[in-house]
Amino acid sequence: MLHESETPLQRDQLLNQLDQHITKASEKGGRIALLVFNLQHFREINIDFGHHFGDSVLKQVAQCIQGALRPNDRLFHIGSDEFAVLVTDLKAYQIVQLATEKILSSITSNQSISGQVLSLSAQAGAAVYPDHADNRDDLLRAADSALSSARKKRLKYVIYDASRRQQEELRAKLKGDLREALKNNDLMFHYQPQIDLRQGIVSGCEALIRWPHETQGWISPEIFIAVAEESELIEELTYWSFNIIMREWRQSFAEVPSASIAINLSAALLHSREIADQVNRSINIWGIRPASLVLEVTESAMMVDPAIALKTLNALHEMGVKISIDDFGTGYSSLAYLKKLPVSELKIDKSFVLHMTEDRKDREIVQSIIDLAHNLHMHVVAEGIENLQTMNLLKEMGCDYGQGFYIARPMPAANIPAYLDTVHRESPGAADDEISA
Ligand code: C2E
Ligand code: MG
Ligand code: MG
Repeated sequence: MLHESETPLQRDQLLNQLDQHITKASEKGGRIALLVFNLQHFREINIDFGHHFGDSVLKQVAQCIQGALRPNDRLFHIGSDEFAVLVTDLKAYQIVQLATEKILSSITSNQSISGQVLSLSAQAGAAVYPDHADNRDDLLRAADSALSSARKKRLKYVIYDASRRQQEELRAKLKGDLREALKNNDLMFHYQPQIDLRQGIVSGCEALIRWPHETQGWISPEIFIAVAEESELIEELTYWSFNIIMREWRQSFAEVPSASIAINLSAALLHSREIADQVNRSINIWGIRPASLVLEVTESAMMVDPAIALKTLNALHEMGVKISIDDFGTGYSSLAYLKKLPVSELKIDKSFVLHMTEDRKDREIVQSIIDLAHNLHMHVVAEGIENLQTMNLLKEMGCDYGQGFYIARPMPAANIPAYLDTVHRESPGAADDEISA
């Protein structure tokens, strides 16, 4: 740590000064810029040369930055390897870029510290009040977000992008709308039938969430599930969905007691202790046979923390619920884990199925997944079947179950009894020869 007398101002002082200068700027209609700097490889310097030497580095960097500042600018040491500069009374927007570049070049030149020549480098993020944020916390967040984007893109610096703020605002608005929709029961499910390819009979269906947004129309679940996953909303949405799906499935599939119901489980919940209890509760309320419930999880979700995922999946498996790996082939499954996980089904991602009749490589991948599943005593489902040729080919290749627009599009629960009536009379998918996405 640096000694107090040698340090630039600290983080809490930055918060104070931000408050003061934002108030002043808002009264005068002025602007201020917040620049944050991260010294690269500081951890390694500490490890290689010791903390005492690390402190000397920080002291020297602080002096370099100080030398590059104008008299009214303020320097703060806000984290072990992070500095912030407050540029008050910003006369022109271009000064943000000039000041950031000047400070970065003052740090990055070769430094001689305690007789040791070091080549230091730093990255920066910058944000401006009121262009990018209208209060202290948002300004800090914007500058941090610009710095993190510089890190990700391996750039020297990034100035916060106002369109990014717009995107964040849109996302926040969507989250609010989603919360309301959940409260008002505006979300619903459509069900897509799956068929047993060998026998040509309906084996079950997958529940797919739908949101008819008041002004934006149908929003893709991929978009709003990702928004829900950013907060606790995903738990509320998931527990709510278990009850709706199980109730609707009981009503619509009363005639086919052996049918299964597949529910997509968000990656965010695979690491929740509560999930098995919630599933258990809903199963009991709706009198569902656990074995008829299939929970679809993606490979990447399981690989975030395989040990915890294994615990959750084992708890569900012990209840008799089946686990399916969705979008198989697109993530990074470790075969070592696949062997340990209580998985009973692999679901081949539609990206391999859609063009498999023309693309030899896709066909070979599909065949490999079918063989892998069977060798591990799992069954295999192909999604994205859009024509008869693909369905027949999958049947020949030994795929067990199929799902896709050719067989049936996702439909409201109320349409399922009529659909089942039709397929009892003719074979599924026979009505159309080809359906495009
Ligand atoms: P998924 O679980 O892989 O679902 C399959 C997606 O493929 C669905 O898109 C379905 O409508 C679409 N699809 C079905 N047959 C065909 C076909 O023949 N061709 C093509 N091109 N597409 C087909 P959807 O409904 O837009 O859902 C997208 C994703 O959103 C799902 O992918 C799933 O990851 C997620 N999702 C949907 N509902 C839920 C839910 O209730 N909870 C969670 N956590 N995620 C959900
Ligand atoms: Mg799925
Ligand atoms: Mg899928």
